[in-house]
Amino acid sequence: MSEKERKLEELRKECLKCDKCSLCNTRTNIVFSDGNCDAKILLIGEAPGADEDETGTPFVGRAGKYLTQLIEESGLSRKNDFYIANTIKCRPPKNRVPSDEEKNLCEKYLLKQIEIVKPKVIVLCGATSAKSFLGDKIKITQIRGNWYKILDNIDATVILHPSFLLRKHSEEEGSARWLTRQDILKIKQFISKV
Ligand code: SF4
Repeated sequence: MSEKERKLEELRKECLKCDKCSLCNTRTNIVFSDGNCDAKILLIGEAPGADEDETGTPFVGRAGKYLTQLIEESGLSRKNDFYIANTIKCRPPKNRVPSDEEKNLCEKYLLKQIEIVKPKVIVLCGATSAKSFLGDKIKITQIRGNWYKILDNIDATVILHPSFLLRKHSEEEGSARWLTRQDILKIKQFISKV
């Protein structure tokens, strides 16, 4: 086990015991991470859904499978090129949006994950994730594809959430799905240079 893996495992164990917010009462599993901790890309999703809560792994439901498909279509590998985490680690009941209080209480785990993984780029996937870093006023459809510097000067970009894309069926040029494919290709281009 590398030093990085050891530190992440320590943090995961801390999360397993966490009862800082009421979501600890309804969770089945902590959803800590998936993928490669040495990857250049750290993707941050919203909150665990039912499938994620059941398995303890982020992005494994229908939306997760679609995200994986988009990643693989771009020529990147979800397993090797991504470390995946969530804004919060426990599932909000009925998949509601996590409250500010829950996000604030859980933030320290995510920030610690970022500090340990040291990604070259952070991908903010979906509105909840983007708002956590870019402020509540953003409109995800207006800022997707934009690039920012966040935290300690880390490059970050925004993509639409796969569950939103599953409700948008068009594959035509300019559609939400088409734009997301372009956004992922730009991420691929970016990491080939860093
Ligand atoms: S959501 Fe985060 S802060 Fe709340 S109990 Fe789970 S790990 Fe702790």
